[in-house]
Amino acid sequence: MSQGAEESFKKVISHAKEYGFVFQSSEIYDGLSSVYDYGPNGALLKNNIKNYWWRSMVQLNDNVVGIDSAIFMHPDVWRASGHIDAFNDPLIDNKDSKKRYRADVLVEDYAEKLFQKAEKEIKKAALRFGDSFDSELYRKTNTRVLEYEKKAKTILSRFSKALSNNNLSEARQVIIDEKIKCPVSGSSNWTDVRQFNLMFGTKIGSVAEGANDLFLRPETAQGIFVNFLNVFKTSRMKIPFGIAQVGKAFRNEIVARQFIFRMREFEQMEMQFFIMPGSEMKWFDHWKKVRMNWHESLGFNPKNYRYHNHEKLAHYADAAADIEYNFPFGFKELEGIHSRTDFDLKQHSQHSGKKLQVFDPVSNENFTPSVIETSIGLDRMFLSVLSECLKEETLKDGTLRTVLQLPHSLAPNQAAILPLLKKDKLPECAKKIYDQLKFNFQLIFDEKDAIGKRYRRQDAIGTPICITVDHQSLIDNTVTVRDRDSMGQNRVEIKDLSNIIKNTTSVEALLKKV
Ligand code: ATP
Repeated sequence: MSQGAEESFKKVISHAKEYGFVFQSSEIYDGLSSVYDYGPNGALLKNNIKNYWWRSMVQLNDNVVGIDSAIFMHPDVWRASGHIDAFNDPLIDNKDSKKRYRADVLVEDYAEKLFQKAEKEIKKAALRFGDSFDSELYRKTNTRVLEYEKKAKTILSRFSKALSNNNLSEARQVIIDEKIKCPVSGSSNWTDVRQFNLMFGTKIGSVAEGANDLFLRPETAQGIFVNFLNVFKTSRMKIPFGIAQVGKAFRNEIVARQFIFRMREFEQMEMQFFIMPGSEMKWFDHWKKVRMNWHESLGFNPKNYRYHNHEKLAHYADAAADIEYNFPFGFKELEGIHSRTDFDLKQHSQHSGKKLQVFDPVSNENFTPSVIETSIGLDRMFLSVLSECLKEETLKDGTLRTVLQLPHSLAPNQAAILPLLKKDKLPECAKKIYDQLKFNFQLIFDEKDAIGKRYRRQDAIGTPICITVDHQSLIDNTVTVRDRDSMGQNRVEIKDLSNIIKNTTSVEALLKKV
């Protein structure tokens, strides 16, 4: 990570803590590694992101329904899904630094550096040749660029082949041959590569009765598959249709770092779309576009998003792509879109003995639907929103302002009600306004400190509107409304406040862009 990127990432993390968005779990006991808690503003923002996703899926699509399945599931679910045998990460230790790494991440980071070198060559040439420069032609013909890209692709495909064949010594050999070094010790003194299962185990029932081993779910998707028939029969859906859910997932990540990007307990927002076999690519492309559109609807910099098509596919998939976001530490997966074929339903049919099929009136036959999945981490989404929206502005008077430029409808609080002074009946008047509006809006009431300081605090937590009650309010029932982004102020009538907040913060405008 460059120094500038590291600085801006540190700012996001400390802002998240200072303003009550994210805390380390069990902090007073020195914390629990890679587990985090959401504070008052964090919980509100997280709920707003979750609701935005849920509405975009369940409310906007008449052929998508939502469920909420349990975290505990029958242990055979994980046998059928392949998680017991194949939900592994390859790990490797550096003998000098004693640091543990995911072997695939080491190799991917190394390949990414080669791709970046190729990009640098192209940028250098663009500067040299000026307006007439054709970057695509240069990419296709320049020998240096071609060499970097070829090398990166060869390494990735050699490594991915080694993993698919479960050839762990060959996987290690890639790291040795490329002289990939430990970022901490700088040495290439590596152990063997080993497979490590990421599921957390637990037990159900008392020991006396003979407790059964269970797993904490590592993804929410299986709760959807095992409920496929229940939902199909009770919701009057027909193929194609989708089932969405939001919920906790747990993974014993080997290298869980980068704040809330990779956690051991996290939340997923997943949707499984059940389709006719043969229409996989049509729906895969459809959902790829719809999901990118959803991200773009938030109005963030489009350059911070890109697709990454998978070369190495999971055991269940016939196509897969990630939507990557340019986090402060570089482009990384934010959401996955997978064409899962009929793998999951067939596996559960086989292991449960129940026929998970539907009837096709055209062919007069039963069939097992195929599935397109969209899967996004709520916490990763939260991190992308924070990173994108946290801005520092130098104002005309030279002072620095920190402002969280959240899309208005995602802001933790829709408006702040601020009596100008803590006397002269201003707090009472402000409280009355608060009590009128609180039934429809999430509000903050704040009467402490000078008004300028209170505005800055609201800017830092992204509150779109500040409503200030002053002496004139007592005379003519008007207040000032301050806009977070322009900092402009307007005098408005108290009776109009409800409409003003609604128009500024309603989620409708965002949803219409999806
Ligand atoms: P990665 O390659 O980063 O480990 P993955 O490919 O294993 O991710 P999926 O199994 O496709 O991830 O999970 C879907 C989504 O869930 C991811 O796109 C990500 O947003 C989120 N996610 C997965 N693992 C974690 C985690 N440990 N912490 C936070 N979010 C996660």
